[in-house]
Amino acid sequence: MSDTSIDFVSAIRTIPDYPKPGIMFRDITTLLADPEVFRAAVDAMVSPYKDQGVALVAGIEARGFILGGAMSHQLSAGFVPIRKKGKLPHETIRVAYSLEYGVDEMEMHRDAVAPGTRVLLTDDLIATGGTAEAAVKLLRELGAEIVGACFVIDLPELGGRRRLEALGVSVKTLVAFDGH
Ligand code: AMP
Repeated sequence: MSDTSIDFVSAIRTIPDYPKPGIMFRDITTLLADPEVFRAAVDAMVSPYKDQGVALVAGIEARGFILGGAMSHQLSAGFVPIRKKGKLPHETIRVAYSLEYGVDEMEMHRDAVAPGTRVLLTDDLIATGGTAEAAVKLLRELGAEIVGACFVIDLPELGGRRRLEALGVSVKTLVAFDGH
């Protein structure tokens, strides 16, 4: 899935000890601000799914919205947001989940995905996989067929990929960083 001519790792900024001590925050705003790298990242993320009949891209708030919107356009698919609780105006379904640094709840509109719809899940980064697992639960509750999950960044030591694969979801990532 990686474009070897583009250095995605160098385009990502690392902020030590944010939002709390011990976390190495992988900041993709620097990647998004570079026209060539942003396009290459989106191209690389959608390329495995071009002929997979993806009808909807589901993006996890908030950085998954930026990537997912661009990916939807590339795939001529629709986009559906998976949001923090209390943000969506219509009737929702909700799931609780734990993060690498906290606990939260996320929601989708109850009518966002028709049963059997082929959905590609995306976010900027997979760490423990708790966030993505919660998103998979919401999507499956609505009857979605999850084509795959893709992320710019994998933190392999935290096991998120294995956690999603154990749920039967195939995972693709552009780059990996050691540690948290
Ligand atoms: P997890 O649920 O542990 O897989 O965490 C993934 C979610 O938390 C994603 O939405 C990420 O944007 C965010 N996140 C977790 N760890 C980091 C990190 N080290 N740098 C940037 N974002 C992170």
